[in-house]
Amino acid sequence: MKQRLLFLGPPGAGKGTQALRLAASHGLLHLSTGDLLRAEVQSGTPLGQEAEAVMARGELVSDQLVLAIVRSRLEGHTGGWLLDGFPRNLSQAEALDALLSELRQEIELVVLMELDDAVLIARLLGRGRADDNEEVIRHRLAVYREQTAPLIQHYRERGQLVAVEASGTVEEIGSRIEAVLS
Ligand code: AMP
Repeated sequence: MKQRLLFLGPPGAGKGTQALRLAASHGLLHLSTGDLLRAEVQSGTPLGQEAEAVMARGELVSDQLVLAIVRSRLEGHTGGWLLDGFPRNLSQAEALDALLSELRQEIELVVLMELDDAVLIARLLGRGRADDNEEVIRHRLAVYREQTAPLIQHYRERGQLVAVEASGTVEEIGSRIEAVLS
């Protein structure tokens, strides 16, 4: 099974839920930059203080900050991994390429989770996170389209991307993902 993976897709597509399941069942390191940033905010670290207001607005925190988090987790890790919510723009994708070539590792597959906007918004509104009010949600979707969606083409051109329909139950979506990884 492929075990160096990126999960790509709009906020609300269920990346976090599926990433957790897959990482647990296959023993992969689950790296969610959103979760790691929220933990920093919670503990009130300088990094968290820097990120808090940016996250509340639904914008992206600085590439440098996020890259430092990812680097510290991937360095010295020899097993499989699943990156969830990173990279979020082309410059992060390039920085990731540089980091992985330094670590002599490669992305084996990029899983794109696709879902209609109406369903995304309904899911996000039901989730109740601090950055999940309607105005911020719309902004996060706009940021996704402008900055993150270009990564689809980037990875498709390299032949690394596979798209999975992200509607249905958690189990149904999970089986579709398992099927593309084998
Ligand atoms: P997520 O949990 O992936 O939806 O991320 C929540 C928020 O954390 C985003 O709206 C951003 O403010 C921030 N964030 C998460 N990952 C990244 C990233 N790779 N680059 C920049 N900001 C990020």
